[in-house]
This record gives sequence, structure tokens and C-alpha cells, in this order.
Amino acid sequence: MLERIREKVADGGRINHEEGLYLLTEADLLDLAPLAQMWRNRHNPDPIVTYVVDTNLNYTNVCNAYCGFCAFYRPNSDDPSAYTLSVEQIMDKIGAAEKQGVTTVLMQGGLNDEIPFDYYVKLVSETSERFPRVTPHYFSAPEIMEMTKVSGLSIAEVISRLKDAGQRTMPGGGSEILSERVKSQVSQLWPKAKVEDWTEVHLEAHRQGWQTTATMMYGHVETDEDIVESLGHIRDVQVAAESQPGGFTAFIPWSYKKANTALAPKVGAEAGSNRYVRIIALSRIFLDNVPHIQGSWFSDYRRPGQISLHFGADDFGGTLFDENVMLEAGHYNRTTVDEIKTIISEAGFAPAQRTTEYEVIERFEPEASISDRVLESSK
Ligand code: SF4
Repeated sequence: MLERIREKVADGGRINHEEGLYLLTEADLLDLAPLAQMWRNRHNPDPIVTYVVDTNLNYTNVCNAYCGFCAFYRPNSDDPSAYTLSVEQIMDKIGAAEKQGVTTVLMQGGLNDEIPFDYYVKLVSETSERFPRVTPHYFSAPEIMEMTKVSGLSIAEVISRLKDAGQRTMPGGGSEILSERVKSQVSQLWPKAKVEDWTEVHLEAHRQGWQTTATMMYGHVETDEDIVESLGHIRDVQVAAESQPGGFTAFIPWSYKKANTALAPKVGAEAGSNRYVRIIALSRIFLDNVPHIQGSWFSDYRRPGQISLHFGADDFGGTLFDENVMLEAGHYNRTTVDEIKTIISEAGFAPAQRTTEYEVIERFEPEASISDRVLESSK
């Protein structure tokens, strides 16, 4: 089987579900690295690893979805720790972030039916007008569905109104694992937790020229089969995007964090570093039509993130200055731009700052590695 996969990858061919499952469950982890790097170098031959200077804001934590994996939401606005920020409060946060050099604001919130559609449009238009150097990377597919509900508009009309206000990109949140079986277990009370909703929102966004990302949160109730099915679904959506002006820029996997979530008693130990690196490599090999695979210092910490750069990842995600969702699940992790550049350099690549749409803003010379510094100091 491995030889067959090797030949396919060497020819730039597409592996099938059975081969993906073999790479996920049976292949030696180290055998995945050269295969993943073949696809990495085909898409991105330049030995750079990109990152974005971004912050992660949340406009409300009130949510009617009650996802079992989520520690962030509050079920109603009477909860003492519930909040919904005003547009002005959000603009103040963006202004402060811009002073830190942020070029992308990734903003998501709960599904709060007390918020009118105009609020979302205003968030985009005010950001675009007041902070032209900042890209509003706002709202996952479930939030777009919530907007259709509160406005009575179609998905196409909602996206068009947000586009008129200045939005051009969208994060891939809300996919978790794209399998109806899994979704019905992790988001039982959420009537919109359908694979077809997530899919239709992204297809429409691609039709209207948006660049979006695809994501996967693994390590809960899914099976290996579900993971490969989910990757196959994303690959199919990208095939459909080939005739559209938009499409997926990147795929971003991360592992479920259990603390303070309702799903925790049904799940064993959290997924570890080997699983993370294997999923990065499998993603790079399987998603042959997605240009970038994102590893990260954040979800599985620095060293696995750094190793993922040799298992197919060519992007290191963002600085995430104000992350709160994973924080509520007990996952505290913070970094700086300098540390990201050091981690990338020490993996043997040149760090490069990028835009939300993966265009390089500035490429830096790799810093001297630790071993180089030791050698230098011993001279
Ligand atoms: S993951 Fe999102 S949609 Fe689900 S409960 Fe949390 S905030 Fe709501």
C-alpha cells in the first residue's frame, strides 16, 4: 500500500479514502514526512514558512447551540458572565490591536438571536472604513446561518451584504468533523449543525469570490473513518471551487481540549503530539488541491508545531493576541512575533509575514539556529 501511495504522490496523483485511512492508522509516522513534503514543495517550493499577525476577538459569548465540546458559550444573556460587545467596544479593541501591528482580525461569536443583522454588517463596514490596513476575517458558517435566521435573507444575500460592507475572507470554524454522525453527537441541540449548511455557506462564499479556510477539530467522538470522510468532503468542496473566483486558502486542524466541556466524560485522553503531526501530514497528502496547510504553536504547543513544518505544514498560523475560546477550555498559550520567527528559523525555514489571503508581506532572513549560536560562541 505504501509503495502505491508513494507512486501516486510522486506523480502528483490523488489518494483515495482507503489510502488515506492507511496513512492515518497503519503507516509508520516517519514514512509520511517525505510524502507530505513532496506535496508541500509542489505547492510552495520556496523554503519559507508564513505567519500572520492577528488577534482573535469574540463579540458575544451568548449562544443557542450548546455544543458539547465548547466551554466558551453562555446559554442566555442573563448569565452573570454573559456579554455582547457594542460595535464601539469592538472598534476600540481593533484600534488597540492595530497599534500592535495586527493586520488580520479573526472574529467569531456565539449564535445569539438577540443580535440584529445590521450589527454584523456594521462590524464589517466600520472595520473597513476605520482600519483599512486590517482585514476583517469574520464569522464562521454557523454565524452566517444565524444571520439568515434573524434577517430572513438567504445565504447568498447575507454574504452579498457583508461583501458590500467590505468582507472578503471567512474562517472555517463550525466544521469540527464534517460527518452527520459526529455532528449529531457533538452539537445535538443545534438544528443548523448540518454538514450541508457548512458546505453551502462556503460554496456560496467561493461563488462570491471570498477566500475561506477549512478547519477540523479532532480528538473527541470521531472515528478514523470520520476524519478521512471529513477531509474528502473538504477536497470535494475545493473541486467545486475550481470554477469559482474564491476557494479554500488553507486547511487548519487542531485537537479538542476537554476542560469545562459537557462532552468531556464521553472522551478518553486528549489527542497527543504524534496524532497532531500525523494529521498534518495526512492533510497535506490528501488535500492535494488546497494550497496551504497550517501547523501552529498554539493548539498542540511549540515543539509539535515546529515538527509539523517537516510534515507538510507551510504556514504557522497567527499570533492570536486575544484568544479566549480555548482559554475557557483550560488551554492557555501565548506567543510573540519574535518567538514565532525563532521557531520557524530553528526548523530551518525563513519566516515570512503574510496577509489573511496568504500573500507575503515581508520575508525575513532565518535567525541563526541554536547549534549555530553555540558554534559561534565556542570560537
Ligand atoms: S462552538 Fe460556537 S456555536 Fe457551538 S456552543 Fe460554542 S460558541 Fe456556540
